[in-house]
Amino acid sequence: MARDDFPSAVKTALRMRAALICSNPECRKQTVAPSESDDDKFVCIGKAAHISAAAGGGPRYETGMSSEERSSISNAIYLCSGCADLIDKNNGQDFSTATLRQWKADHEQWIASNLNKRSEGVGGDGGSGTIFGNRGTVIGGKGGRGGMAGVGGKGGSGFIQGDDGLIIGGDGGSCGTADGRGGRGAKGPTERLGFDTSRWGYGRGGSGTNHPEYDRRIRLLAQFRSEYLVRFPTDAPYIEAGADAVPVDWINQRLAESQESWRIELREGLYVLPPLL
Ligand SMILES: [Zn+2]
Repeated sequence: MARDDFPSAVKTALRMRAALICSNPECRKQTVAPSESDDDKFVCIGKAAHISAAAGGGPRYETGMSSEERSSISNAIYLCSGCADLIDKNNGQDFSTATLRQWKADHEQWIASNLNKRSEGVGGDGGSGTIFGNRGTVIGGKGGRGGMAGVGGKGGSGFIQGDDGLIIGGDGGSCGTADGRGGRGAKGPTERLGFDTSRWGYGRGGSGTNHPEYDRRIRLLAQFRSEYLVRFPTDAPYIEAGADAVPVDWINQRLAESQESWRIELREGLYVLPPLL
């Protein structure tokens, strides 16, 4: 059977729309670079992959599609060569047409939202305010916005020396934080000082999304937690009730066994992940 390959104009438009970055949200690799051997050439590890296969029997092949539809840009997704191979393993059963269409739509939206932005950079931290005296209001500054793959600044914090003040932590910057979470708002220091007031507020979190690697790490930790509960059933009721936590050493040992390069720490009763950058 003939293959419905993409014409070169389709390939060009596809890769430009994807900004030459892999559309798999867990990957997002840059796919183009200057050639090391030729001063006037480049290397590209990206591919225009078929969402529904170019020929019968291939991954996600749809018999109802016409030849034109099959070789049109609507049936193409830009991926790095690793991801292009990945989606076709097992004859495509692990990656549905719907998943790939979602990747493509999300990727194009992400690229569109990053037009004219620097590719990295750390947003500045928000400023902080101080009031000496009573009944003041302090609002911390808003954290700066990081670049496309940057890190949002921390929200500023307020400080009141005196009573009955209102402190609102600054808003978090609108990119991810260093451990890959979306921006977080700062808290007023009254919480840390243990003041008994319900009037201090949190800054709003920034609008940055979690880094895919952060989400992957959280999924891994959740998986280790379930493993632990199965292996140590006598501890399970305490852990499930929140009275105890899965030991950090055990989790770090599982991370080491899984060839993961990062470890967690326990700080104030909470697991802390290391910075991604
Ligand atoms: Zn990729």
